[in-house]
Amino acid sequence: MELVMNSEEMKAAQDYVNNVYETVKKRNPNEDEFLQAVKEIFQSLVPVFAKSPKYMEHNILERIVEPERLITFRIPWVDDQGKVQVNRGFRVQFSSAIGPYKGGLRFHPTVNASIIKFLGFEQIFKNALTGQAIGGGKGGSDFNPRGKSEGEVMRFTQSFMTELCKYIGPDTDVPAGDIGVGAREIGYMFGQYKRLTGRFDAGVLTGKGVGYGGSLVRTEATGYGTVYFVEEMLRDQGLTFSGSTVVISGSGNVSIYAIDKAQEYGAKVLACSDSDGYIYDENGICLDTVKRLKEVERARISDYVKEHPHAQYFEGSTGIWTIPCDIALPCATQNEINEQSAKTLVANGVKAVGEGANMPSTLEAIDVFLENRVLFAPGKAANAGGVAVSALEMAQNSSRVSWSFEKVDRKLKHIMKDIYRNSINAAEEYGYPGNLVVGSNVAGFLRVADAMIMQGVV
Ligand code: GLU
Repeated sequence: MELVMNSEEMKAAQDYVNNVYETVKKRNPNEDEFLQAVKEIFQSLVPVFAKSPKYMEHNILERIVEPERLITFRIPWVDDQGKVQVNRGFRVQFSSAIGPYKGGLRFHPTVNASIIKFLGFEQIFKNALTGQAIGGGKGGSDFNPRGKSEGEVMRFTQSFMTELCKYIGPDTDVPAGDIGVGAREIGYMFGQYKRLTGRFDAGVLTGKGVGYGGSLVRTEATGYGTVYFVEEMLRDQGLTFSGSTVVISGSGNVSIYAIDKAQEYGAKVLACSDSDGYIYDENGICLDTVKRLKEVERARISDYVKEHPHAQYFEGSTGIWTIPCDIALPCATQNEINEQSAKTLVANGVKAVGEGANMPSTLEAIDVFLENRVLFAPGKAANAGGVAVSALEMAQNSSRVSWSFEKVDRKLKHIMKDIYRNSINAAEEYGYPGNLVVGSNVAGFLRVADAMIMQGVV
C-alpha cells in the first residue's frame, strides 16, 4: 500500500520506516510471511511517525519488531507402530507491554519460525485492539494431525506440553487454539500441565471445555465476531448481510461459526472449502452437514455432495474465489487470496471482504481491494473476537465465575463494534478515511507504543 507523501514530516517518517525494515530484512532472512506482516504494519504507521516524532525518537519500531523471546524445542513421541517421531515446537513471546503474552497454538506441517513470528507479530496489535490487557504471543508445531489416531494426537500433545509448561502460566503466557488445535488438544494440554505442575491453574490456557473452566461463546467467538465486525462496516455504508450472497472459505472453527451467524443474519452462503477443494451449493450451504463432517467425523468437505447431490465439489481450494458473491469471508489460512483472485472477486462485483483468518490476503490483493473501493476488514480487527473472548475466559477464571452465553455474546458484540469505531476513527485522524488497514494498525500500535514508552527502555 502506497501512502501519499506530502510533507517533510512524511518523508522523514518514510525514511525511518524504510531503514528499520531493511534491518528487519537482514536479521530475518528467508522469513517471507513474517516480512510480509511487518511490511504491511510498518507502511501504515508512516503517518503516525510524521505526526508524532516521539515514537521515532524512542525507536519503538526496532524494539517492537524484535520478539522478547523465541523458544524452539524438540517434541519426541511414539506413533502407533512403536516408532519414535520427532517434531519441532515453537513459542514466540513477542510483546508483554500491555499484559501477559496471549495467542494460539497451531499444529500444521507448514509451521516454521516465519509463520509463528508473523502470527505473533500480528497478535500484538490485534490483542491491543480488543481493549483488554493481553500482550502478543503465538506458538505451535509442524506436527500434521491429518490421519493421526486419537492416541497419537494425545501422546504428541502431551509431549508438546511437557516442554511448553516451563514457559507459560496464567500471568506469564496464556496459549489457546489455532489451526489444528481445538477443544480436544486444549483438553490434553490442560491435563498434562496439571500433572506436571500439580496445580489447577484454570487461566493457563483458554478455549477449555465449558465443564472445567472454559467460557461459553469461545468456540463461536472468532466466526461470530467476524460477522459482527463486517455487519458494522456494511451498516456504515447502508448495506447489510441480509439478502446478500456470501462465500466463506475454510470449514474449520472460524468458518463454521461465520457461516452460522451470516445465515442467521439472512445471507445465503454459497460455498466453503478445505485444503483439498471447495463445495458450491446454490441453495445455500447446509451447516448441519458441514458441522457433522468436520467437527464429528473429521472427514473431507468433498463428502458433502454425497448427501447433497445437487451441490458441486471442485478440486483445489483457491477456485472458491471465482464464485460471484456480494461478500467474501476468507476464513481458511494465510495468503489464500492472491492478486489474481482479488481481481476476479472485484470483476464479479464483490462489495466487502472480511478476513476471518490471519493474513489471508497477500499485500497485492489488499491493494486491489483498496484501489477498487471494496470495503475491506483486515484480519487483525475482524478476527479479534476469538482472542477477545479468550480474555473474557481469563477474567472469569480469575474471579471463579461463569457468565451466561447471552452475557458473553453481548460483550463480544460490543468489543467488535468498538474495534470498528476505533479503527475507522484512527484512519480518519491519520488522513486515510475508510482505510481499516491503516486504522487498525495505528489504533493497535498506539496503545502498545505508549505503554512501552511509559515502561522505559524495554
Ligand atoms: N488463534 C486465535 C487468533 O489468531 C486465538 C488466540 C487466543 O484465543 O489466544 O487470534
